[in-house]
Amino acid sequence: MLIETRGNDKKRCVNIGLHEAILNPIASFNGLWSLKNIPQININDIKDLSYNDLTKYIFEILGADSSLLDDALLSYKTFDNPHTPLDFAKLDDNLFLQKLYTGPTRAFKDMAMQPFGRMLCNLVKKEDKKYLILTATSGDTGPATLEAVKNAQNIYAICMYPKDGTSDVQRLQMTTNDAKNIKVLALDGDFDDAQSILKNLLNDTSFREFLDKNNFCISATNSINFGRIIFQIIYHIYSYIYLLKNHIINNTESINIIVPSGNFGNALGAFYAKIMGIKINKIIIATNANSVLFDFIKTGKYDIRNRKLLKTNSPAMDILKSSNMERVLFHLYGHERTKELMENLDKNKSYEISNNELAKLNLYFDTYKSDDNATLAIIKEYAQKNIIIDPHTATALNAYKNDGIKTIIVSTAQWSKFAPTIAKALGLDSACSDKDALDYISNKFSLPIHKNIESLFNKDECNKTIVDSSNVGSIIKEWLKSIN
Ligand SMILES: *Cc1c(COP(=O)(O)O)cnc(C)c1O
Repeated sequence: MLIETRGNDKKRCVNIGLHEAILNPIASFNGLWSLKNIPQININDIKDLSYNDLTKYIFEILGADSSLLDDALLSYKTFDNPHTPLDFAKLDDNLFLQKLYTGPTRAFKDMAMQPFGRMLCNLVKKEDKKYLILTATSGDTGPATLEAVKNAQNIYAICMYPKDGTSDVQRLQMTTNDAKNIKVLALDGDFDDAQSILKNLLNDTSFREFLDKNNFCISATNSINFGRIIFQIIYHIYSYIYLLKNHIINNTESINIIVPSGNFGNALGAFYAKIMGIKINKIIIATNANSVLFDFIKTGKYDIRNRKLLKTNSPAMDILKSSNMERVLFHLYGHERTKELMENLDKNKSYEISNNELAKLNLYFDTYKSDDNATLAIIKEYAQKNIIIDPHTATALNAYKNDGIKTIIVSTAQWSKFAPTIAKALGLDSACSDKDALDYISNKFSLPIHKNIESLFNKDECNKTIVDSSNVGSIIKEWLKSIN
């Protein structure tokens, strides 16, 4: 069911199944695994399904191995509503908030990471090998990964985050995790630095030899892993059904979906849903000041030559190399063209598609960018209506223009992960701590603070090693030796 975005190097299989792609996410020529065929959905088959049954249905029509799925879906039982891992709120007659943050770390990453993590742990158990998971995080992938694999047998997780690039809550979610199979590294640098260190390690022969000698395989939990993407298709489809079943749309009507985007995993799920026949008019890509995706969708030029990564108040979107765009290119233009474009990106830090290709892209995607001030303004505007949104969701709300089309705003984090920014939008001193901001907002709007967030502030930051880029490899080796 999966094939490679840059074609096959004759050393690997041409087609693989989901389980193999989860364990070995990198494909030939440094490409990715992606869907071979995208089947059409018959809405009548799915409109009455529960969330979990919809997931099973989608696995089935995609031909994905579902032998570990029942167990994986048990992970949703810890979400706020144990039957449905997401929630909706109506903002006005045409506008709906899709809340994807009802899981343990209060960000949308749990939607995929929880069931995917469980599936990965079970696969590893069956394999009887040791797996090293290397994660670079801009703030939310890290906590969600660690939550999903903590104490798992034969899995060792390294999580690298930019030392000053996350919120306190995000940092504490990683550094207070005391599971023996987890090591958290604070890196002097930004997210793109962390991601390239990771890539270099994976290509470093002496590091690979060390792992081979000690029987470690490598996998990854960021959204280059198709095991995460497959779970990110489901909630977009479920939202459409939700609107249909509640008579908010009729069955001839199309919807817009606005997605706060970084690495493009979330938006990619919506792209697949549209190809499967779900009536989505446009997927609108909301970006912050790191507007590479905005420029690409407007002009067809993906160019990071003269860009520096900017620190914004929506840090989970502070990314220049948006990995999952590659899967879109593959589906629209084929593997040869994708390989050519991606090689340009690696060599020249840019690529450009033709006008015809751009027209094709624009059948699916529209885009909008917001700077930090616009984000703060819209947080304030909604707070006056007693609706508290986080800065990532704010970029999506800011992209909305009421054109009569029913629109889903994908809300990717709960307010509690980014309380200081929200407090700032409300006029509180920008220098206040996460804890002060949490209490302030909680009191002012009578919002409970989830126990997983509240308890972070009473824990010790026992899992934190500050590193510079040159010695990451040796620190990882030392750690693996010390615990094995
Ligand atoms: C990860 C994340 C995003 C970006 O999602 P992608 O799938 O990487 O595009 C947006 N908002 C929040 C809060 C996130 O954690």
